[in-house]
Formats: sequence, C-alpha cells, structure tokens
Amino acid sequence: MTNLLVAANPRGGAPYRFGAADASEVVAAADRLRAAQPDWAARPVAERAALLDRWCEALRRGRSDIVAALTEDTGRALLSEAELDGAMHRIDYWSRSAPSLLAERSRGVSESVPSVRFEHRRDPLGLVGVISPWNFPLLLLLIDAVPALAAGCSVLAKPSEHTPRFVEPLMEAVGAVPEIARVFDCVRGGPQTGMAVTGVTDALCFTGSVATGRTVGARAGARLVPAFLELGGKDPLVVLAHADVEVAATITLRGSVVATGQACQSIERVYVHETLYKPFVDRLVAAASAVTTNIDRVDRGHLGPFIDPSQADRVEAQMTDALARGATLHCGELIRRDGGAWCTPVVLTGVHHGMLLYRQETFGPVLPVMPFANDDEAVQLANDSEFGLSAAVLGEQSHALSVARRLRAGAVSINDAGLTAQVGDVEKESYGVSGVGRSRMGASGLLRFLRRQALLIQTAPAAPLEAFGEG
Ligand code: NAD
Repeated sequence: MTNLLVAANPRGGAPYRFGAADASEVVAAADRLRAAQPDWAARPVAERAALLDRWCEALRRGRSDIVAALTEDTGRALLSEAELDGAMHRIDYWSRSAPSLLAERSRGVSESVPSVRFEHRRDPLGLVGVISPWNFPLLLLLIDAVPALAAGCSVLAKPSEHTPRFVEPLMEAVGAVPEIARVFDCVRGGPQTGMAVTGVTDALCFTGSVATGRTVGARAGARLVPAFLELGGKDPLVVLAHADVEVAATITLRGSVVATGQACQSIERVYVHETLYKPFVDRLVAAASAVTTNIDRVDRGHLGPFIDPSQADRVEAQMTDALARGATLHCGELIRRDGGAWCTPVVLTGVHHGMLLYRQETFGPVLPVMPFANDDEAVQLANDSEFGLSAAVLGEQSHALSVARRLRAGAVSINDAGLTAQVGDVEKESYGVSGVGRSRMGASGLLRFLRRQALLIQTAPAAPLEAFGEG
C-alpha cells in the first residue's frame, strides 16, 4: 500500500504531497526492469548511446518544467538551471565515451600458463539501484544512473523524499524514449522505500550521509552485491605562505558557500599560514559580508535557503557550540527563519578541533579559520578528520603539490577549490568514511558496472589427473 508523504517547500511555500512506493511496488518495478535488461544490454553500445542522446533532447524540451520543479524542490533558480545543464552534460559525456570504453578488447596469452590464451568479456551487473540525496537532486541521481545505463544495466532510482517534485518532469522526458522507459524507473519515498531498493537490486550506488551509507553498505554486504558509496565530507583548504591573499580569500569564499554550503565538496575548514592569517581573515570577512541570500526573490542573491529544514538546526547547533567554547564570530547571520531558513556566510576564528563543527559535517556556509606555522602542521591539521572526500591547497604550484600529496583526500584542487564538481573525467576515490568503491568519475564511472568474465582457452593437451598426483 502507498503511504502519503509531505515534502516541505524550502522557501515556505506550499508543501507537496506524494505517494511513497511500498515494498511490493519496489519489487514489481525491479522485476519489470530486470526482465528488460538483457535486451537493452544486447543492443550495440552505439545504439544505447543514441537513445541516451534522444533522452537528453527530451530533457532539453522539458527544460522549463524540470527547472520549475527543481526550483520548488531546492528554493534556488539559477542553480537549478545549472543543475539541469550539468546533468545533460553528463549524458552527453557518457554517450560519447561509452562506445570507445566498451570497444576495448583485452586478450592475450597467459604468462603463468603459456599454453592458455585468454580473452575478457564484459557483462553488465544487471539491475543497479541508485539512492540519492536532496542537495543536487537531479544531478546526483543521473550521475550514477546514466553510466549504468550506458554500460547496459537497468536502473531503479530512489531520490530523496525532501526533493520529490522533479521526478514527474524527469519521468516525462524518460517516457519520450520508450526504450529507456523500459530500463529506467524512479520510486519515490523515504528510508523504507530506500531499504526496499537495497533488497532487490544487483548493485547499489548510494550518495548521502555516512550514517545511511553504513546501513546501505551493511545491507549490500549481507546480500553480497557490490556497493558504491559516496558519502559526506569535511573538506580542508590550506593557504600556504606566499599565496596571493586576495585570490585565496575569493577562492575560499566561493568554495565554501556556493549552494549555501550544501555540497559534499564544500570547504568546511580553512588553515592559513600564520604570516598571512590576519590579512586573509580581513579579506575573507569583507568578501563574506557582501554575500546576499535569495530570501526576497528566488532568482536574486547569492545563496538559497536550506533545502532540508532540519539541516538548518544542525548548522545552528554547531555554531552555538563553537561560540559557547570561545569562538569569535566575524560576520554572518546565524539562522534567519522566515518561512524557510537562510544563513549568510559565517566566518569564525578562535576555533579548535574539539568543537562540533570540526567533528561533524556542517553542510552550511560556515568558515572556521585557523593559523598554522609550517607545512607539517598544516598537513597534520588537514588530516585530523575521519572524512577524506576532497581538499584544496593554494600557493606556489610545486609547493602546493608537495603538500597536496600528503593529504588523505580523494581529490585535491590546487589553486582552486571544489574542482571535482566540474571535472567529471578524472578518476578519484575517497579516503576514510567519505566513501567506498571505485570512482564514479572518469572511465571507471562506467566500467564499474561491468563484471569482467575471463574466457581461458587451453591450446595444448589438457593435463591429466596424474599431473596433479603425489608421485
Ligand atoms: P541521507 O543519508 O539522509 O539520505 C540519502 C538517501 O538515502 C535519501 O534518498 C534517503 O531517503 C535514503 N535513505 C535514508 N535511509 C535509508 C535506508 N535506511 N536505506 C536506504 N535508503 C535510505 O543523506 P541526505 O541528507 O539526503 O544528503 C546529504 C548527505 O549527502 C551529506 O552527508 C552529503 O555530504 C552527502 N553527499 C555526498 C556526495 C558525494 O558525492 N560524496 C554528494 C552529495 C551529497
């Protein structure tokens, strides 16, 4: 039976009611998709790529409805446009690269048994479950779904219950390409629907919090199906001695507060060489103080609201804890509640790693800044976290590289921040609790959905039992 769920409107507008798929509906969708997958996989990859292009065209035609729904879901207009562009770019990328990636033939002669020739065949994993979060609802669903489809899998997606509106126009675009509609479907709902998806798919892609990632990973482990987990971050940014202070402050601000800090690769900790500390904090505070929210008009201002209202409470609790433990607030409005919840960039000094905002992911526009004396101290501070998603180092390039190589982070941007949000063709794998499994970026983003089957051809007479006997 379908439960009714309600998603809040992050700008305080009308809430949205929708039916959550129950376990039997999830099983029925999975059965349909699994049954259609072999035909999809049997199509030449160029044909699958052409169908993905047609889907992209349908998304383009549905642009105004998709952007309108995403804007209602997330409370931000321009980023919703950018999100759709990013998603279409991913489809284009995979439809162009899949044919050459899948054309690669690996065959040869075994070094360990020279009479054996081998070749590899790539077999799609089957039905892939994609469970996604609310911060970039469309992009983070398609980022895994599209390469899985290109690889020949079918996909059952479960987007976040906080951002359900975009699913209707998305599925309309899917319906325009019946071949894709047979192998791609979305079920809406909360954790229970997500749990049902983890019970029926042949592989799982999960993007979300560490806590849910542990549950999803345990479930995949119990069923012995592969899981690719993309989890939270606590990204550090290091400003080395001799960095340009003005440029560093500009990069730091953007890297931390874009999307109101609701991005996994947001900068959440800033470490500055002590010789630059004072001028850097001054510049950062000046730039941060000029940042505006879109509270008055959805398509004006730099920062949208918190998408999930409970996220604002978490950010507030971290700031309250930091201030109670002696942090200095230089700028920023704590949380402004006016229908939704907004926050202008917060710069804090007098901070230390015992504070909540260093131990937990923040997911808000909060910039705690700390000085360091030398590279060793910068590396020790940056690595003092259970997370290891990404990081940034600003300074003279070879110096920055030498520091970056010592960081426990899946990707390090040098003289920029958050480049992983723009660079989709370079592989990266997380450290610590930030993720498990092969890279979703670069070639492995597609190849991880294919099992390599080895065909081993004996060209000499096969050994008899005696060859393995005791004497
Ligand atoms: P979340 O873990 O609360 O939820 C993510 C998804 O999991 C949702 O669809 C939710 O309904 C589903 N879910 C919840 N419980 C489940 C269960 N028991 N079984 C199966 N599915 C379940 O995360 P969120 O709050 O939606 O997203 C924010 C988090 O996502 C942050 O931690 C952020 O860092 C992370 N994130 C990571 C990346 C990345 O690429 N590493 C990208 C974006 C966001």
